[in-house]
Amino acid sequence: MEAKIVVLDGDGIGPEVTAEAVKILDVVGERFGHTFHYDHQLMGGCAIDELGTSLPDETVAAAKAADAVLLGAVGGPKWDIPTAPDRPERGILGIRKALELFANLRPVKLNEQLIEASTIKPDVLAGTDMLVIRELTGGLYFGPRKEAGEEGFEAYDTMLYTRPEIERVVRLAADAAMGRRKKLASVDKANVLASGRLWRRVATDVLAEYPELEVEHVLVDSMAMHLIRRPASFDVIVSNNMFGDILTDEASMLAGSMGMLPSASLGDLKNSHGLPLGLYEPIHGSAPDIAGQGIANPLAAVLSVAMLLRHSLGLADEAQAIEDAVDAVLDEGARTGDIAHEGVEVVSTQVMGDLVAEKLE
Ligand code: NAD
Repeated sequence: MEAKIVVLDGDGIGPEVTAEAVKILDVVGERFGHTFHYDHQLMGGCAIDELGTSLPDETVAAAKAADAVLLGAVGGPKWDIPTAPDRPERGILGIRKALELFANLRPVKLNEQLIEASTIKPDVLAGTDMLVIRELTGGLYFGPRKEAGEEGFEAYDTMLYTRPEIERVVRLAADAAMGRRKKLASVDKANVLASGRLWRRVATDVLAEYPELEVEHVLVDSMAMHLIRRPASFDVIVSNNMFGDILTDEASMLAGSMGMLPSASLGDLKNSHGLPLGLYEPIHGSAPDIAGQGIANPLAAVLSVAMLLRHSLGLADEAQAIEDAVDAVLDEGARTGDIAHEGVEVVSTQVMGDLVAEKLE
C-alpha cells in the first residue's frame, strides 16, 4: 500500500524520538512491501520561530490531505512567556480541533520486563492492561475563558460540554470495551459539577445500549486513588478532556515511564483508505531537561507508529510486528535511562531505535 504521512517533529526531544519512529516505518515498508511518503511540517515552538505562528495554515492543509499524522512533542522554556500572543501548545489544540480529533486513546499495558521500573509495588501492578480514552476537543481546554493579562486579577476557564460531545466519546469507549474485556469505567465529577452531572446522565443513556458491559461510574478524585490501588481491575476508562489529561499521566507511571506510552487521537474524518485520519504521538512532552542529549526513550514514539498502522492504515500484522519487536528488545535487556535499573546497560535513543529495527528486519 501507499500512504502519505505528515510528520510534525516539533521541539525538544520531539525530533529525536520521531526520527526513530520514522526509521521503524521505513523498515516496515521494506519488510511488508509498503511505500510511505513523509511530509515534514512545522508545528509548535519551531513554527513560531520560523513562521511566527504555532500552527501554520500549510501544516493544517497538509494534515487534512494526509492518511495519518505523526507528532513528536512541542513546547519548551524558550516559548514559556506568560504574555506571549502564541504558545507551542496552542498548535496542538488547534490541530486537534482542525482534524476534529475528539477521542484520545492511551493504552497502558505493563511490560512485565519493566515491572521494576515503576514506583508502584509489583503485586499491585501485575496484570495491568487498560485503555484510557480522553475526550479531546471539548471541556475546560476549549470553553469560554478570560485571561488575566499582566495587570488583571481575574481569570476563568469554562468546562462546557454538550450531549453529542459526550455521546460520541462514550460510544467509542463502549465499542472499544466490547472488543476487550467488556468493562468500562466512566469518570466524572457529578457530585459537584453541572457538566459532570450531564456527563453521568449521557453516559448512562449511551451505556444502556450495551447490556453486556460491566459499567462503573467513578468520581475523578476516587479514580485518582483507585488507579494506583487496583490498576489491574480496569479495562477501558473514559473521561473528559481535563480529567483524562491528568489521569493518563498518572496511569503512565504504572507502565514505568512516560517514554513507553503511545497515543492515538481519532475523530470522524476519513483518509484515502476510508479509515480514520488520526494523529499519533507519544504521551510525553518535549522533555527540555534531556533534549539534545540523545538519551530520550523513543519507544513511545515507535509504539505510536504501531497504533498509526493499525488504526489509520488497517495494517494490524505490521503493528503487531512492531510491538513484538519492542517486546523482544526489552526481553534482551536494552534500556534507555528512564527505564533502567541497577546493573543494566543503558543505550541511547538511536541505539534503541536500531535494536527495534534489527528485530523487525
Ligand atoms: P515532559 O513529558 O516533557 O517531561 C516530564 C519528565 O519525563 C521529564 O523529566 C522528562 O525528561 C521525562 N521524559 C519525558 N519523555 C521522556 C522520554 N521519551 N524518555 C525519557 N524521559 C522522558 O513534561 P513537562 O516537562 O511537563 O513538559 C515539557 C514541555 O512539553 C512543556 O513545554 C509542555 O507544555 C510540553 N508538553 C507537550 C506535550 C505534547 O507535545 N503533546 C505534552 C505534554 C507536555
